[in-house]
Amino acid sequence: MNNFKNLRGTVDLLPEQLVKWQNVEKILVEQLSRASIKEIRTPILEMTELFIRGIGEGTDVVAKEMYTFLDRGERSCTLRPEGTASVARALIQSGISSKPPQKLWYMGPMFRYERPQAGRQRQFHQLGVEFIGYQSVRSDIEIITLAWDILAKLGIKELNLEINTLGDIDDRSNFQKSFLNWLEINKNFLDLDSQKRINKNPLRILDSKNVQTREILKEAPKLLDFLSEKSLERYSTLKKQLAMLKIPFVQNYNLVRGLDYYTHTAFEITSGSLGSQATVCGGGRYDGLIEQMGGPKIPAIGFAIGLERLILLAGQELEISRKTDIYIINQGLQAEPLALELSRKLRRYDLLVELDLTGASFSKQFKKANKLKSKSIIIVGDDEANKKEFVIKLFDKVNSESKEETISIKNESILEKWIQNNLL
Ligand code: ATP
Ligand code: MG
Repeated sequence: MNNFKNLRGTVDLLPEQLVKWQNVEKILVEQLSRASIKEIRTPILEMTELFIRGIGEGTDVVAKEMYTFLDRGERSCTLRPEGTASVARALIQSGISSKPPQKLWYMGPMFRYERPQAGRQRQFHQLGVEFIGYQSVRSDIEIITLAWDILAKLGIKELNLEINTLGDIDDRSNFQKSFLNWLEINKNFLDLDSQKRINKNPLRILDSKNVQTREILKEAPKLLDFLSEKSLERYSTLKKQLAMLKIPFVQNYNLVRGLDYYTHTAFEITSGSLGSQATVCGGGRYDGLIEQMGGPKIPAIGFAIGLERLILLAGQELEISRKTDIYIINQGLQAEPLALELSRKLRRYDLLVELDLTGASFSKQFKKANKLKSKSIIIVGDDEANKKEFVIKLFDKVNSESKEETISIKNESILEKWIQNNLL
């Protein structure tokens, strides 16, 4: 006997769990369309090189977490660990310079070889939003507001927004020089991981979770002191407008998105109710990415929300599935085809219709309808079928019969009226 199991870090989503996923996805898509953001779908599989260039060799994602393999043509392929690089690639490929700015979203599975734990999987899902071709601080504000409102709309409480600025490329490279100097001097006080990052990705050290490193870092040069007037002004506008919009935030000077292409705004939204994997949304401005990937110099900003964590946080009311509107109880040689015909007719309306296929006794089918708390039932036995009619019964809230009517199969207008009066 085979005993197959899913791979570690992957998860089956069964119908019971999918109710909440689908409700959440519906709200997400609704909110995004209302903000006039358009969907983009890119392949899950890409050339490995795309992520090495797009995310950066020195990052954990590229260095340790990618699912990379050779295909039959000996090409190195990778299951996407994130969405931004693919979106940038797709836009460059389809002639980005001739297009106006775009507001885009994507949703789907991502793959990272990490240690699985609550809120952390190897195949997980993200919703991402990218504003491509937007330079002004107003786009930073809209992006942050959008992420905030989406989470609030889902009833998520205890949200914390942390923001930081990384300045422009010049500011950052000035800071980096001074920071590297300091790192060389203080190297021996840092944890091993951070030591390794000095040459590869020094900014990321700011993000270290090591307690001793964090303590030492308090003495390090601060990025904020290296910002130009213009960058500081930009940051201050951002803060002022967030305050005006009544979106509470805290400044976190150690918040970096460790890649070279990030500039100006970086932000994260965490929730107090998530425990150790608290970050539900991460985002920032990446003005350098598209150019770094061989496209024109086009500014952009975006964020990604982890859906597994979002689902954990979203309100319990989203776990409730839609009630069955009509459950069709049927049995008998004449009755069964008639019941099938009826179910097809009923699906023209916005109704949830279940046709019982068990062939079990009427009382058993009735019990099933009851268990589902179906709003109404249709009963077709051979007696009814011979007369080309059926019985439809409505239940009131406590599931006792409240109304009953016998309708001829030919008389569709009566059926329609009944549905309109009772179910729609
Ligand atoms: P973390 O610090 O939690 O590893 P990250 O910085 O790697 O996060 P991003 O690359 O910014 O995360 O991805 C955005 C969001 O996607 C995260 O805030 C998180 O909600 C979610 N996410 C990232 N990795 C995973 C994972 N392995 N499993 C589930 N969700 C994840
Ligand atoms: Mg990670």
